[in-house]
Amino acid sequence: MEASQTFVSYRFHVHTAGEMEVFYDTHAHLTFPDFSCELPALISRAHNAGITRIITIGTDLESSQQAVELAEMYESIYAVVGWHPNDLETAPEDVQDGLRPLCVHPKVVAIGETGIDHYRLPSGNGGSEADDLIWKKRQVGIFRQQLELAVELGLNVVIHQRAALEPTLKVFEQYADKLKGQFHCFVDDATSMERIIDMGSLVSFTGIATFKNAEEVRRTIIATPLDKLMLETDSPFLAPVPHRGKRCEPAFVKHIAEVVSELKGITLGELSRVTCATTHAFFPKLKLP
Ligand SMILES: [Zn+2]
Repeated sequence: MEASQTFVSYRFHVHTAGEMEVFYDTHAHLTFPDFSCELPALISRAHNAGITRIITIGTDLESSQQAVELAEMYESIYAVVGWHPNDLETAPEDVQDGLRPLCVHPKVVAIGETGIDHYRLPSGNGGSEADDLIWKKRQVGIFRQQLELAVELGLNVVIHQRAALEPTLKVFEQYADKLKGQFHCFVDDATSMERIIDMGSLVSFTGIATFKNAEEVRRTIIATPLDKLMLETDSPFLAPVPHRGKRCEPAFVKHIAEVVSELKGITLGELSRVTCATTHAFFPKLKLP
């Protein structure tokens, strides 16, 4: 397969500081304890790698509030606020009232991460099939609340769809003419990607693109229109090669960009130009560096 040959011929590009390409990390969890006390150093490593914008994303109300605080403290950080489908134990019946005041903050650029996850279900943790049904229904309900809030406030959404692309699309498509979704950490095939693009939404790719066994993800990247994709780390998870297995951080977007530019057969400069433009169009509240 072409993609694996491209992967093997992966080259390191050398730049002087003056001509470094700029990339954005559109999805990181900087509020996770992995990063406590270390953010100034992490941000400066990111800047030294050309990563001048980092969007940190909440998974519940508390981490969403913390994400907004980080956005207030650091110029290069922006926030996305919402409830992750795996973190609903502590969610209220209605999540809109807690999120609404955060959403109007000038540096809150979208709602998320929200969506559906069938990878972690109660039955995988001693629960019954009936528990699974209740949990799935709750995920759909809270996903809908966040989609409705996003429509109300004119925001886009960051979507989590692990092992649940079909049920996620079934809900999302009812809102697809009113907002756009970033289908984050995209690992599905090109046909699935096309369904998302056809709805006017887009996909983003993590360090998985650099993993040796991720041929399908690389095929999907090749098939994805250049202006319909964004880059992200999902830090602290999914560190790209050559850091695989270690804690991930926003500076590593550079490694993902190297592989994506190879797969697309374009320069890092072209990838920088198009992905940054796509990111600003998707998150209109994001300011230029
Ligand atoms: Zn995430």
